[in-house]
Amino acid sequence: MGSNPAMPTILNHRLKRLLVAVLVLHMALPPAVLAQASTNSANDLPDIGSPASSALSLDDEYRIGLQVMRQLRDEGQVIEDPEATEYLQALGSRIVAQATGDSAQKFQFFFVRDDTINAFALPGGFIGVNYGLVLATRNESQLAGVLAHEIAHVTQRHIARRVRTQGRQSVATMAAILAAILIGAATGSSDAALGGVAMAQGAAMQQQINFTRANENEADRVGMSFLAAAGFDPYGMPDFFETMGRRSSLQAANRNALPEILQSHPVTTNRIAESRSRAAQFQDVHPAPESVSYQLTRERLRVLATPPEDNVRRYYTERHGNQPQTPGEQYGEALANYQAGNSRASLDDLTVLAREFPQVPMLQSTLGQALMGAGATDEALDTFRRALLLSPRNIPLTMRYAEALLKANQAKTAHAVLLDLFNNVAPTPEQIRFTALAASSAGDTADAAFYMSEYHIATGNLPLSVAQLEMALAEPNITSVQRSRFQARLDEVREAMFSDRKRRKMAEQEEKRKKQQPPPSDSRPHGTLSRAGS
Ligand SMILES: [Zn+2]
Repeated sequence: MGSNPAMPTILNHRLKRLLVAVLVLHMALPPAVLAQASTNSANDLPDIGSPASSALSLDDEYRIGLQVMRQLRDEGQVIEDPEATEYLQALGSRIVAQATGDSAQKFQFFFVRDDTINAFALPGGFIGVNYGLVLATRNESQLAGVLAHEIAHVTQRHIARRVRTQGRQSVATMAAILAAILIGAATGSSDAALGGVAMAQGAAMQQQINFTRANENEADRVGMSFLAAAGFDPYGMPDFFETMGRRSSLQAANRNALPEILQSHPVTTNRIAESRSRAAQFQDVHPAPESVSYQLTRERLRVLATPPEDNVRRYYTERHGNQPQTPGEQYGEALANYQAGNSRASLDDLTVLAREFPQVPMLQSTLGQALMGAGATDEALDTFRRALLLSPRNIPLTMRYAEALLKANQAKTAHAVLLDLFNNVAPTPEQIRFTALAASSAGDTADAAFYMSEYHIATGNLPLSVAQLEMALAEPNITSVQRSRFQARLDEVREAMFSDRKRRKMAEQEEKRKKQQPPPSDSRPHGTLSRAGS
């Protein structure tokens, strides 16, 4: 009935701090295949059921969000960079801490590979921010303002309320359509990504999930209070609305096909004025100084997401002029050099920056990478070790350290370092996958399969998780400790799949029962059959 199936417990545990990370999945399928794949995978999924009731529970919301995330990730739409994601997750969490006494609602923040200015909230507390939006912000409070607005959409349960009005759509269908809308929009080929029928459904769905003006107003109002309470400049919100207003009028010409969920912030002069007068009510707020990580992350995204043909290095050269560079620009230029294979050119700047900001893991990890790139392996490994003393078990730093160890043919140590992280910090999916890679390089095949099963759990694919656990158990040389660990996990996953099938079956029966109930005026015994053709 209302009881929680086991799966969300496992997932929530594992995804407490889902930070999307490295290594973009190279799985871009042609649009037609994608449309098919989303339908198929939705059908195969045991963890997505069809709700009998018309209201979306938090569990259902979470399932939809996770499913959509998986499809966005498979399409390469998620920027899987550990450093950038860690920053966004930290920034978002700071606001969430003000936002919610409801600890059941988890939030996962991720960057989207799209240069348009937008952000969106998925069901289940997954919040996506286009890198184009970050590049358009001028300071951290502006970015925080956007997050606060999206967080408010989630805490006020606007999505669930919109969906409730429709009700009969199954969770799987909703997830598939929502993903198709987002992917279609993000790649600018929404009709290619969807067949005719799905497109019509998509339009209906669109209608459902559009936030009303009242929702938007509430998200602005509630978001503003989160923003101020978290110690950001409340004027960050109206300031950024103005930027969006200017830019969206420029974009409108070729982008007006964009769905509302991606465009959920129509900016009117009225809205900006309201937001300004709200901000004025927070006179007592004295914003905390901005973190240097904001500008580092903004420039990092610029370098990582700019297509190669746009030559991001020229951007920094042109900006140079006779102005002194900001730390962010210095970092961006160094990173661009490193990325272009010119590690040596990046070392001077990175060394200076890393010395100036020893507590900022992003600078230490890039310095370590550049040292590796320049062939200074020992110095690189020392840099990582020193940085980890200052920021123990920092996820991106540990992953980069392990990456360097793998390059230095120290796979065993890499596996050990990642295992320690895995056991002590709620892991991100890409971190888990990377740990599997390290285990495999170290020759620990059974552990590698075990980690891959954890990866599939984290991304919501239980059948693949079972397959990996069976492989792990079939390895001839596993210890008894390993065996009982793998078996326990397998039992847990199977139990989750079972209770989910049960849940789905109950929902289907409920649905059937409703359909079979003859209308009051009609007492013929075979009423259902006689109506079947109509
Ligand atoms: Zn909104």
